[in-house]
Amino acid sequence: MSLMERVQTKINGLKGDGNYRVFSILKKSAEQFPSVKVSANEKSDGAALNMASLDYMGMSVDTRVIDAMVKTAREVGVGSGGSRNIGGTCQEHVDLEKELAIWHEKEAALIFSSGYVANHTAVSVLGSLPDTVVFSDSLNHASIIEGCRTARCQKEIFDHNNPEDLRARLQKCENVENKVVVVESLYSMDGDFGKVEEIFDIADEFSASKIVNEVHAIGTYGPAGAGLCSELGCVHRADLIIGSLSKGVGTQGGYIAGSLEIVDFIRSFGYGFIFTCSLPPAIMKAAVESIAALKERDLERRGLAEKSNLMRHLLTKASIPFLPGNSHIIPVMVGEPIPCQMISNRLLAERNILVPAIKYPTVPKNGSRLRVTVTARHTKEQIEAFVANLADIYKQEIGV
Ligand code: PLP
Repeated sequence: MSLMERVQTKINGLKGDGNYRVFSILKKSAEQFPSVKVSANEKSDGAALNMASLDYMGMSVDTRVIDAMVKTAREVGVGSGGSRNIGGTCQEHVDLEKELAIWHEKEAALIFSSGYVANHTAVSVLGSLPDTVVFSDSLNHASIIEGCRTARCQKEIFDHNNPEDLRARLQKCENVENKVVVVESLYSMDGDFGKVEEIFDIADEFSASKIVNEVHAIGTYGPAGAGLCSELGCVHRADLIIGSLSKGVGTQGGYIAGSLEIVDFIRSFGYGFIFTCSLPPAIMKAAVESIAALKERDLERRGLAEKSNLMRHLLTKASIPFLPGNSHIIPVMVGEPIPCQMISNRLLAERNILVPAIKYPTVPKNGSRLRVTVTARHTKEQIEAFVANLADIYKQEIGV
């Protein structure tokens, strides 16, 4: 078979399974958030209510954040023009790293081009130390899985959020020198919180180090928006916090925060940090401004929790199945990819609602879902309208 035939066979396989992905092309509006314009939506004027945004606190459209970015871009230009070690460390990078370290109550922080790269680099560098086993939750993000793969270390994948399974696996590896436990504080596709404190207790029993991926909890949980570990008062127990600037912070990039030694180690050996240009300084300035604003947004965080509870209440009343949890990520379960895509398509075409279908390999093959997210900017009326429309179409397609 030629390369073209091989490629086509693979793509046809995806299409046949209903797992082929097609972009919805959006035109964001700073004024209309959380509504967007979707070019595929020919009905109405293309406006759609976004029920899947990762911009959980609406910070990407916050005037304070936009102004900081625009002002800095005018002063210093757009691209940084270098990698961090070769002419690409600007004052804005250093200022943001200081701010992130303080936010997470750690000695140091380091910025990466994305949360994906932060996870991948941190896990691959720590995992490549001699005599290492990485203990990774079975629902950890692809970036963590790929980090383990790059490290080529032994992996122990423990059952999702199951401290006892973790304990059994740690016991089995008791004599290994470098034991690294990696979990998430909020699982992106199931929307459940990690049992962080219980996991920490068990890791401590075996002198394992602890990494927490807080990507979906940054900005949305904790008294100053610093994440779930901060809310639980256990941030000092984590050896490394990993975050994203692209979700609750509303800008772009990822980071790690930890001790001077660990951060310096990853800075010195992480290919994902060394061999790439640094992020634009204007984005760094926007992130600093966003974090300053997020520290004052407790009211909005409470509102986010209330709106998420309202969403769960209305979905329950409408008998729409969703995964249990307490966060702002509420996965509405469909199962098979084709009906899931159909519900998503119809919501957009007929009801002006954007909620993309999540399919394999992001979720298991029979676990297709609509990953509904609530943001601090959704109104009660928008949530009510969404559930009413979803209930209508869900029942027509699934027949429950
Ligand atoms: N970790 C988790 C759990 C995620 O869901 C994602 C992306 O959605 C990432 C890491 C990567 O973050 P970023 O989008 O900043 O690359």
